[in-house]
Amino acid sequence: MTRTPTLPTWMLIDGGLVEGLGEPIRIDDPATGELAVEVPTATPEQVDEALEVAATVAADWRTAAQPERTALLRRIADVLIDARQRIAEVCTVETGRPFERNLGYVDWTAELFRFYAELSRVDGGRLAPAKETGQLSLAQRVPYGVVAALTPFNYPLALLAQKLAPALGTGNVVVVKPAPVTTATTLLLGELLADVAPPGTVQVLAGGAAVGEQLIGDPRTDLVAFTGSTTVGRSIGERCGRLAKPTHLELGGNDPAIVLSDVDPAVAGRAVAWAAFLNAGQVCTSTERVYVHRDVFDDVVAEATAVAGSVRVGDPWDDDTQIGPLRTREARDRIRKQLEEVRDHGGEVTGGHVPDRSGYFLHPAVVTGIEPTHPLVVEETFGPVLPVVSVDDLDEALDLAADTEYGLGASLYTEDTAAVRRTLDRLQVGTLWVNDPVLENIGAPFGGMRASGNARELGMEGLHAFTTFRHVLWGLQLEERTWWFHPGEELR
Ligand code: NAD
Repeated sequence: MTRTPTLPTWMLIDGGLVEGLGEPIRIDDPATGELAVEVPTATPEQVDEALEVAATVAADWRTAAQPERTALLRRIADVLIDARQRIAEVCTVETGRPFERNLGYVDWTAELFRFYAELSRVDGGRLAPAKETGQLSLAQRVPYGVVAALTPFNYPLALLAQKLAPALGTGNVVVVKPAPVTTATTLLLGELLADVAPPGTVQVLAGGAAVGEQLIGDPRTDLVAFTGSTTVGRSIGERCGRLAKPTHLELGGNDPAIVLSDVDPAVAGRAVAWAAFLNAGQVCTSTERVYVHRDVFDDVVAEATAVAGSVRVGDPWDDDTQIGPLRTREARDRIRKQLEEVRDHGGEVTGGHVPDRSGYFLHPAVVTGIEPTHPLVVEETFGPVLPVVSVDDLDEALDLAADTEYGLGASLYTEDTAAVRRTLDRLQVGTLWVNDPVLENIGAPFGGMRASGNARELGMEGLHAFTTFRHVLWGLQLEERTWWFHPGEELR
């Protein structure tokens, strides 16, 4: 049943909800193509105000007792659950993802805050063996200070929470800037936090690249935590490098899947289709290309094609819908054009049609008969497209899978442990899924290698990412040291 929630438009600065004074962002509903809301953005003066508040509050929050931080994360989890319906409604309007799935993401996000509420109580650093008697050598985990969190459009709540929960839990304060097209979901989080978070610990600004650039360039931000495309991530990395500012880069991918001949091709076909079409392919770890052993190629393609043809694409408010629209008209049109070009050049495309309705819908497509070097195979498509390439053996599959600048994830379908080992040895990826694609485990690290980034979120690693070390060398008593300068003493 279609719902029409009121979309929030106010930002959170210094604990208060304020209207942006800059040019508005026009956010359209991808399921209808119609304007959903206009959100005024932050002016440079408002960004400056938020940063001044953040710098001041950071000094207190870094020394707050851990139970206070833990209590905040628990309160955030509670308000998320209390506002579950409304958050999922706003997120559905903005992302076009089915409402039922968005409910699940609110639950997952609340779970993440609960997880870091407890985990942040556990590890404050370590005690190094002392160099001299009478000393303590504390390797203390300390927060960076002010974190600028820049997030992408595809999972506005969950991907922000992966930064926000560990950052707050370890004593940082956070200034958030979401992707323009999914600003309202993040502003709603700001609205909810206004009631539970100490002013200035979390602030939410609306804006595009200009607001992001101001946050990055300002000396009051101590860490930039970015999730988004490799192109933008590289430019942010360059800038932060010049400023000597620590940076987390969670970037794009072009994840391969490899299907070997020992597994049931029908099950593998459904697995790769799910991994490619979930969220209309707008997942950084979507299966973007699959290399299938020639003995099972036809069967895998047949099953993936059957899935592509039967997945229910449609109204995100309908309980039966499995996939909503792409987020933008530009993305939909770009992918449609790519598929037309494949057809024009002799490739075979099954599915991939645009339904006769408004919104940015595109039916999933399975593509065969193209060269392994085709742009649809070697570039990140970020849409519901599955190119399938036949290979003679694992070596050929690994050569093709490894021929990329990305290193986010990869999937392997086999029960042959030697094949798993060879794949682990060969592919430089942050996650290898064996027979069970795309799932995350809140307790295990997630992130990319090479052009897919340098950071880790989730798990203990995702907590540690928001701390740096301070060494405290503590002589328990003031004692004369033989190596000090002593007036009148002869040099030795
Ligand atoms: P994007 O790179 O276009 O934007 C990400 C964020 O950066 C947005 O908030 C945007 O406003 C901001 N931004 C853009 N230019 C900027 C600049 N010059 N300075 C500062 N900030 C700037 O990404 P997107 O299109 O929103 O998201 C899709 C991409 O994100 C895909 O490539 C996908 O693979 C990637 N992604 C990666 C992960 C991961 O964990 N590795 C997760 C989700 C998405």
